Amino acid sequence: MAEKSFKYVILGGGVAAGYAAREFAKQGVHPGIELILSTEIVKADLPANTLVSATGETFKYQILIIATGSTVIKLTDFGVQGADAKNIFYLREIDDADKLVEAIKAKKNGKAVIVGGGYIGLELGAALKINNLDVSMVYPEPWCMPRLFTSGIAAFYEGYYANKGIKIIKGTVAVGFTSNSNGEVKEVQLKDGRVLEADIVVVGVGGRPLTTLFKGQVEEEKGGIKTDAFFKTSVPTVYAVGDVATFPLKLYNELRRVEHVDHARKSAEQAVKAIKGLEKGQSVDEYDYLPYFYSRSFDLAWQFYGDSVGDTVLFGDNNPQSPKPKFGSYWIKDGKVVGAFLEGGSAEENQAIAKVAKLQPKAENLDALTKEGLAFACKI
Ligand SMILES: Cc1cc2nc3c(=O)[nH]c(=O)nc-3n(C[C@H](O)[C@H](O)[C@H](O)COP(=O)(O)OP(=O)(O)OC[C@H]3O[C@@H](n4cnc5c(N)ncnc54)[C@H](O)[C@@H]3O)c2cc1C
Repeated sequence: MAEKSFKYVILGGGVAAGYAAREFAKQGVHPGIELILSTEIVKADLPANTLVSATGETFKYQILIIATGSTVIKLTDFGVQGADAKNIFYLREIDDADKLVEAIKAKKNGKAVIVGGGYIGLELGAALKINNLDVSMVYPEPWCMPRLFTSGIAAFYEGYYANKGIKIIKGTVAVGFTSNSNGEVKEVQLKDGRVLEADIVVVGVGGRPLTTLFKGQVEEEKGGIKTDAFFKTSVPTVYAVGDVATFPLKLYNELRRVEHVDHARKSAEQAVKAIKGLEKGQSVDEYDYLPYFYSRSFDLAWQFYGDSVGDTVLFGDNNPQSPKPKFGSYWIKDGKVVGAFLEGGSAEENQAIAKVAKLQPKAENLDALTKEGLAFACKI
């Protein structure tokens, strides 16, 4: 079987892989970048610096950058009855999106059930409603996006969605699906006994980092591949970037894994700078990342920077009926503001909350902070 040898191999074709390739090009490596498509790696032998593809091709490398990202968690993984019916969708690959668009066209004015109240659930719920489907959302938690949103933040979005005609069913989960004679989903059974009609179901219940190829060959931590501040793993010739990396988050002195594009881009750039720096004997600064998440749905847009720990305050106009709602939250730990969220902010205001999360100014009086609201961030 064919064998190819490379100085560097980037495994993956997603966000982090693309930014790693771009950084190599910036560093002058571009004349030699080869793009190998439609090739799945099925075996990795890190001690032998070798990858093997599904067709048996062998790839040798001096340095490997793992950028395999995440795979979607499916209800069939848990054996949910009927979860393999047609028109039950997940969203990870372009192909998934294309199939969903086809179903939206085929099921005009039909009923859609969204399973999950995270990013995918909220963004897809809005997209399906805009496309005139009758949308219900189901999730087990007491409010949407519970890992980030406080109850106050969530109350705004749930109110806004309800005003748009989206039905929100909380505190229960989908436990089964029935389908028609074509195998298309028709009903969603909930754990609390309710049954929802459905022509389309979209499931957004999270992802899982793709690390299986490397199990037992490299140190892992918190579900990802453990790296240092330069994204080097426990195997010195192997780096891991993007969703798969568990890295030291300097600002919080803690190992974290982050599943977002901003970190995928920056971690990839950092790894390549470190690789080239080592070759040239030049030092590179440690990765110093400020967590940054964002989302858009309907005519809403929010940004969050920093850490969502400690006490919280809610400020601004968070009435879902307002013509132009604009509100935010701060997270306060040990007397310092460590996280900031803003809905409806301008570019300058979003920069201001980012600065607050980075600089962590003191805020001892929470009532005063609530009253001051966005002005607190804008004066920093
Ligand atoms: C629907 C959706 C919406 C999202 N929206 C946002 C958003 O609004 N904002 C945000 O910050 N983040 C968002 N995310 C998260 C963001 O997309 C990921 O954090 C980011 O893509 C991670 O980049 P990555 O390069 O690590 O992985 P990916 O971009 O997932 O790339 C992984 C690549 O590795 C390849 N691969 C995996 N295994 C193998 C193998 N064995 N052999 C060969 N190739 C392999 C895959 O085919 C893919 O090309 C969203 C994710 C999804 C699914």
